[in-house]
Amino acid sequence: MYYDKTKISNGVKIILPDKKYLGLCFGIKRAVEKCLSLEGDKFVIYGQLAHNATLCNKLKKQGITIIDDLMEAKREKVIICPHGIAKKDKEFLEKRGIPFLDLTCSFVKNLLSRALEFEKNSYQVIVIGDKNHVEIKNICSFLQKPLVVGKRSEVRKINSDKKIAVLTQTTQTLRKINELLPLIKRRCKEIVFISTRCNETDERQKAVKKLSEKTDLVLVVGDKMSKNANNLVKVAQEKTRAKLVSSTKGLIKIFKNLHYISNLKVGIIASASAPAFVVNDIIKCLKEKTF
Ligand code: SF4
Repeated sequence: MYYDKTKISNGVKIILPDKKYLGLCFGIKRAVEKCLSLEGDKFVIYGQLAHNATLCNKLKKQGITIIDDLMEAKREKVIICPHGIAKKDKEFLEKRGIPFLDLTCSFVKNLLSRALEFEKNSYQVIVIGDKNHVEIKNICSFLQKPLVVGKRSEVRKINSDKKIAVLTQTTQTLRKINELLPLIKRRCKEIVFISTRCNETDERQKAVKKLSEKTDLVLVVGDKMSKNANNLVKVAQEKTRAKLVSSTKGLIKIFKNLHYISNLKVGIIASASAPAFVVNDIIKCLKEKTF
């Protein structure tokens, strides 16, 4: 972590984490780079490559087609996004012989293969996660009777007679796991817990925690529909003020509502789905604008 060296006229001090936390995570970066390298090929992206509207719009502007319904896929290659694909959609592609390129992130694949392995060995699989998140919906579509637990009230649904295997959504916070895991354990006789959080999530949450200990305000660059961005805000809010910001417009709005700015220490970090060009725009605006 370092202070940005640039002198800022309004007295704001910018504190940045390691450069690797100022842009996309490796899973999404790999997928974006792969798509851009396919330039000559005919392909469409199925769903959102990342939960970031600015990034998706940029890809569209570069001529890349994004579809929400597989019926729209003709004979072009279909790109499967880092969040994976639902079982029925995969079967649809296979049955129709539609070519596809699977860019599911390796951490999501790991979660699925662990879950399938546990089911094969007669475990009830429980995922600590958000049942409405696309990653979790896709994972669950391959399982027989998964249970997704995202809050205390959902723990009651657990059938304690079964052998239980608890896994985690890749972007889950440690705080949520520490809150729910002891409650789950109390309801089960035989339980195995394996954290299937991705390294990026782990490292970014540690980095935002450090930032929050040294700053008056943490800005998490990301989209409001991004689970990992919202989680980073929650982690930072345990120690300081924290806001989600998706554009320079949003940054200006946040600063207009601040009571004081002079000597304010501002930490900036990207969510896993925030591209570096958006982060750089926000840093530039913070340096140049007089609020
Ligand atoms: S946040 Fe983690 S699991 Fe999700 S795409 Fe990025 S590296 Fe993969």
